[in-house]
This record gives sequence, structure tokens and C-alpha cells, in this order.
Amino acid sequence: MARSQSRLTAEIDFERDGKQHGFIRLPYSVHRSAYGWIPIPVVCIKNGDGPRVLLMAGNHGDEYEGQVALGKLIRALKPAEMRGRVIILPSANFPAAMAGMRTSPLDEGNLNRSFPGDAYGGPTAQIAYYIEKELLPLCDYAFDFHSGGSSLTYIPSTLMRRPQTPAEVEAGADLMRTFGAPFGYMADGGWGEHTLTAAAARAGVTHMGTEIAGGGQVTPAALRILEAGIRRVLHKVGALTGEPPPAAAETRIMQVRGADYYVYASDPGLFEPLVELGDTVETGTPAGLIHPHDTPWREPATAGFARAGTVICKRVPGRVERGDCLFHLAADFEA
Ligand SMILES: [Zn+2]
Repeated sequence: MARSQSRLTAEIDFERDGKQHGFIRLPYSVHRSAYGWIPIPVVCIKNGDGPRVLLMAGNHGDEYEGQVALGKLIRALKPAEMRGRVIILPSANFPAAMAGMRTSPLDEGNLNRSFPGDAYGGPTAQIAYYIEKELLPLCDYAFDFHSGGSSLTYIPSTLMRRPQTPAEVEAGADLMRTFGAPFGYMADGGWGEHTLTAAAARAGVTHMGTEIAGGGQVTPAALRILEAGIRRVLHKVGALTGEPPPAAAETRIMQVRGADYYVYASDPGLFEPLVELGDTVETGTPAGLIHPHDTPWREPATAGFARAGTVICKRVPGRVERGDCLFHLAADFEA
């Protein structure tokens, strides 16, 4: 691999034992600060040799559960209870996280559509480049804690790119069962080569993500699943010693394969959902009505499911535009 040309620098030394915190400095020369930098918080906890893990949240700034859970983990973890190294990036797209937005207010960048990034691009592209070229090569595992953010909410789920071989499927399912969310789904890489999932695959790093509730809030139930799941997974890969939290509910292993798993608004208007999270639907089951409130004497448009499955994700805000995602399904995993 070509040498990294990243302009970002970490204040802490990832090779040093112990617990360090500081910032990754992203040079940002603007009117109010000619030689300034954006401070992206980073923590490294290392205790000798062992598994090398990246824990990341705030990839999307309005997905708060992971940012809260990683902050709590940062304050709690002690090097003596660790083996190897965890690098924790709790607000990866820091400008987006500080704005409480999915994308960066500086350049509209969506970090999880920006890999492999650009060393001389906008701030979001530079963060992506640094993660792919500098952080992932230091890691064996990358766990990225998303949720539905402002516009969607999920039944708490883990996800990963659909593996190629039966042995890899079993290993992936095993990791999802260890995490212990109600659902774990294998996805066919629908968002292309620009996600952290794709970057991890390029780097040969084992990746798992979450979609842990959302709706622009943090709930005790979602946080419990996330915090215990992170600790169980760290224990499973050998990074955390001692007793892991007791196993949670059984994880149903699912798949999300293509565009027909998603339902979109056909018209602008007000969204009346006709199903709830967890419902089982058939092909043609009505998903929601879109009411034309600018011409309320017209009948609403009906959005329907294009295939059978279980509803794991739904839109939260009532106002929709044509093209907004209303629901997505998962189906039981089939080899
Ligand atoms: Zn996300």
C-alpha cells in the first residue's frame, strides 16, 4: 500500500501501553483561525500484545447511542483489564457530531459515503482517508456503532457485509449472537464501496456494525443492549478479561439483499404508517399512506411492501418527500 499522505495527526501514541486521551488534529484554516485545527477526540487503551480493535461512533453525528456508550466505556475501562489495544473514536465525524447532524455542516460530507477518502479533500474526506489509511491498518477488528439517526428508527440490530463462505457466515453469525441484539443481518453491500464496511474489507479487518434504535434520541433499553453487547464482543475477541455481562436475548440471523427490501415515499405529504417495527409482512402488504395535505380532498397514495419479511426499520418524521425511505425489511438468512 502507498504511504499515507494524511494531513491529520494524533496527539497520542498508539504504540504506548496504558490509557491515553487526546485529539486527532484536522488542519482547518479559516477566517477566525488561520492556523487552527478541528479536535477529533480519540482514546487509546493498550496492555501489551493482543487483539487490536477500533471502536467507532459518530460516523453519523445524529446517532447518539454509540457516542454515549463509548464515552461511558472510555471512562470505565482500565488497561489492567485489557489485552492488546482498543482505539476509541466516539465522534468520528466530529463536526457532524457537534452539530447533531448526519452530515458535516462544513462540507455536507457523509462520512460513511466518503471512503476511501481524500488526503486533500474537504474535512469529511480527510477524516475518511485518515481512518482508512492510518487507523484500519493498526486494527484486526472494527466495530462501528450506528443507529437510525434523526429520520429512522430500528429494532436494535447488528449488521455486517454478507460473507462469501459458509465458514465465514458461521463466524459472523457467532459474533452477532455474542453481541446479543434481537436481530443481526447480513447485507449485500447496497451502499457500495464508500462505507467503513467496505474500507474494513479492503484492509482485511473484521467488521461489524450496529443499527441500534435511533429516532434522534437515546433510550435506556437501546443503551443497555449496546453497552452489554460491546463488552461481550470485546471479551469474545480476547481484548477484555474478566467476566462479560450475561448473554442477552437470542439473536435472529437475517439478511437484507436488495432494493425490494426497502419502501420509499412515492409522493410528498404526511406519512401514516400502517405497520409497526417487528411486524411480519407479505408481498403487497400496505406499508403506509401518504396524505396530500396541500390538496386534502385527494385520496392518499399507498406505499406497499415489494416482498415478504420482518419490519426492522421505519421512518420517524411524519413529513415526507418523494424518495424518502419509509421502511426496510429483513428476511431470515438463507445460504
Ligand atoms: Zn449511521
